Amino acid sequence: MTQLTDIEIAQQTHLQQINEIAQRSGLTEDEIEPYGHFKAKITLPLTQPYQPGKLILVTSINPTPAGEGKTTVTIGLGDGLRKIGKRAILALREPSLGPVMGMKGGATGGGYAQVAPMEDINLHFNGDFHALTTANNTLAALIDNHIQQGNDLQIDPRRISLHRVLDINDRALRNTVVGMGGPTSGMPREDHFDITVASELMAILCLATDLHDLKDRINRMVIAETFDRQPITVADLHVGGAIALLLKDAIKPNLVQTLEGTPAIIHGGPFANIAHGCNSVLATKTALQLGDYAVTEAGFGADLGGEKFLDIKVPVLGQAPSAIVLVATVRALKLHGGQALADLTTPDLTALEKGLANLGQHIKSMQRYQIPVVVAINAFTSDTPDEIKMIQEYCQRFNVPAVEADEWAHGGAGTTALAHAVVRAAQEPVHFTPLMAADDDLMARAQKIVTTIYGGRNVVLEPHAQAQLRRFAKRGWDKLPLCMAKTQYSLSDQPKLLGAPTNFDIHIREFQPRLGAGFMVALTGAILTMPGLPKQPAALNMSISDDGVIAGIF
Ligand code: ADP
Ligand code: MG
Repeated sequence: MTQLTDIEIAQQTHLQQINEIAQRSGLTEDEIEPYGHFKAKITLPLTQPYQPGKLILVTSINPTPAGEGKTTVTIGLGDGLRKIGKRAILALREPSLGPVMGMKGGATGGGYAQVAPMEDINLHFNGDFHALTTANNTLAALIDNHIQQGNDLQIDPRRISLHRVLDINDRALRNTVVGMGGPTSGMPREDHFDITVASELMAILCLATDLHDLKDRINRMVIAETFDRQPITVADLHVGGAIALLLKDAIKPNLVQTLEGTPAIIHGGPFANIAHGCNSVLATKTALQLGDYAVTEAGFGADLGGEKFLDIKVPVLGQAPSAIVLVATVRALKLHGGQALADLTTPDLTALEKGLANLGQHIKSMQRYQIPVVVAINAFTSDTPDEIKMIQEYCQRFNVPAVEADEWAHGGAGTTALAHAVVRAAQEPVHFTPLMAADDDLMARAQKIVTTIYGGRNVVLEPHAQAQLRRFAKRGWDKLPLCMAKTQYSLSDQPKLLGAPTNFDIHIREFQPRLGAGFMVALTGAILTMPGLPKQPAALNMSISDDGVIAGIF
């Protein structure tokens, strides 16, 4: 039998009308706004009282460039929990067009564990990212216009920290000049484009607890400095209302379904390497309210999305996970143990044994929060029984169950063992032990993340970051939560340093204050907030036939 592609499997599946999915989730007719037959927005707040279910966080080891299947396992686990009779609801991130067209591909799962309609979700979905892009760029235009119209606020055009954004990997726009063409075309200045998912507005949308909080957060955004270096906020420009207005629909979570009819709430999608990596608080809360189990994914590895979920999102959400599922794959562990990327389908117990240290570091760092961990071995057809056994024996050392997850080939039927293990792990009452204390300053926070989560030695501040830290301390910004922007491939800030390195330092080049989101971003290593496209972008394989049939999105 030839293996069907993801889009072919999705096209063969009969989807239920979104009204039926909504009804089965416990939503009333007034609580959803259908966008066509298979997608809807959810109108918040829901009328029923808030009695949250258990939260299950899915994270992973450091991935290969293709990803290790967190989204796929998350979707499969939702279906598996339903199969064993639990009311599970998914909360996932919306895909960005950057990776869809670029290297990684989509973010709607794969094989028989997918959310649908996958082509819509992967492309423009319900327009949330376009709204965010437009809102962000409206703000940029209003700043430039303020300068053009006399600059009452004395904004220094050299110190505008709000970048324009685009949801495409476009390296040519990283650094640019705007305002060319003489006095009627604005004040010339250096400008920058970031990818939409790295924008502060994306983080704000994902952390806002309601429309009121969204407006407050937008107004608090620091977007520039004056000539005498005083911070300028959106409130100073009096445009917070307009920006919030542009997000009036984007703030509503989106409802779709898995191929097996499990309700999935998909909303917001910051990357976890250059941003905070979690779907919206509103989506997670809605999933918790509607389900006995809310299964959610944080981006990239436990060192990035996992840590940010626990240290940035949990305080806003007000609830910690009851269990953490750590996704590992035989292929990624072998890559960590020195096997070449091109050879990962060849069995190699020596490389696997060596690479297991990467998994070990992530298990230890997640156990630090006193939350039960379950390892999900995402099954690939190239895995051998000996390799699986080696991972399971290794996990016994940490007293952690390691269960094969075969959702890609079998959907929910392939994850019932994982579902049972997760239910068992989540039975205990949660004794969440935060890593950060409220009065930890930025350096203390960075040091804790580097030593406890990454297994590294020290934080090294480059001169520019040192100067920023002194200035931010005077402004009272030195105790904010920290959002580390770091490569996803390594526990260190060097993408090629695989496995579980020790005795390494993390280099912070620059801080970016995100007062609306409520955190400070630290740029480490060579990480960039506007990715580029690879030599063979995924876009090369995509097409749409004359009668509208889509091919090549994975
Ligand atoms: P992540 O969320 O960790 O980035 P995804 O779930 O998006 O990863 O999966 C990355 C890619 O790998 C997707 O194209 C997906 O279809 C594929 N994939 C995931 N799990 C499997 C599996 N068990 N076997 C084969 N391919 C898989
Ligand atoms: Mg994913």
